[in-house]
Amino acid sequence: MVPALQIPLEKLPEWGLWLDQAVDRARVAHAQMLVCEDGGMAWPLVQEYVARLLCAAPSIRGACGSCPSCIQLAGHAHPDVHWIVPVVGGEGRGDDEDTCAPFLADFRSFLQSNPHPLSSEWIEHLGGKQKVVQISVKESARIQRLLALKAHGGGFKVVVLWMPERLNDAAANKLLKVIEEPLDRTLLLLVCHNEGDVLQTIRSRCQVHPVKPVPSPLLVAALCELGMSPEQAVVLTELSGGQPGQAVMLYRNRESLKEPLQRFVEFMRLVYKKDLVALLQFAESLAKEPREQQKQWLQVSSLLMSQLLRMRHSALKTSLFAWFPDVPFQPDGLARLLNESLHYELQQLFLGALTDIQRNINSRIVLSDLGIAVMKLFAGRK
Ligand SMILES: [Zn+2]
Repeated sequence: MVPALQIPLEKLPEWGLWLDQAVDRARVAHAQMLVCEDGGMAWPLVQEYVARLLCAAPSIRGACGSCPSCIQLAGHAHPDVHWIVPVVGGEGRGDDEDTCAPFLADFRSFLQSNPHPLSSEWIEHLGGKQKVVQISVKESARIQRLLALKAHGGGFKVVVLWMPERLNDAAANKLLKVIEEPLDRTLLLLVCHNEGDVLQTIRSRCQVHPVKPVPSPLLVAALCELGMSPEQAVVLTELSGGQPGQAVMLYRNRESLKEPLQRFVEFMRLVYKKDLVALLQFAESLAKEPREQQKQWLQVSSLLMSQLLRMRHSALKTSLFAWFPDVPFQPDGLARLLNESLHYELQQLFLGALTDIQRNINSRIVLSDLGIAVMKLFAGRK
């Protein structure tokens, strides 16, 4: 098992002021939302913020790490901190029915195995993509009850809620009431990945903090500390878009990159052959895959193209192609074709497609259009 990846928070100075506010316990807005890519820094930031807020002896350097509050929190077992995550309905009895209460032990070990958790991994952990994974209205009622309890430690009561985009309508409306009528010394911290999918009235009542990707040199250094070669760390940093959880996931599942890479090779062959019929079939078949896979294909393709451009300039020694020698492809030929302006136009097309897929636009149309546009681009260059 890969040891946990650590990004020192003091190297992210943009968070200094926010974290200090938790030490001062002043200006702690009662409803806050961190908007972060999946697998990003939101969780470690939340953990540190809550630790500072509840620590018996916090300093400007952070929570003490040794008081009862810090120890309980490190084990995700602080009586005044409640973790709310989307789950599959139908579990639990009484007030806990349809809530995440029966899943908490599971979630705790999940979080401890990866401090930058991925929503896709949690959903898979719950038994797959076929089931409805959501936050129910009973959960919102439970949040209301939890925040109304007397604080064990006499300080703040905290609810950390992961993926407010998975609140169903009734649950979102009920949660809105909690936000509109806050109780004294309570904190509701939301961690979301798709801000646009969160009910507008909830968003507008939260203090919103966008979480940026980890700067590349910082992530590369942290990955090297896990024992990766610098070249591997650079590739993973680029592929993950600066999100540590994604980098670790890709490292653990290197094989998962093979399929998008093979698809990229196939796509480029069809473009080169100007085989429009086959390109449209390609789009059709990719559009049948889950959206996450379509996004991954676009991201991997985009990375491969930028690697090819750097190979052209001899600025890159190994590319992702070298990880999979059994995929028959000679990258040099394509690298020779790919000059700056062609590369730029291709990246724009792939980025546009990625944005459209993220906005839930019909994948078959987006991917077919992409194929046609790329083919035209190459045809115009020859
Ligand atoms: Zn402490």
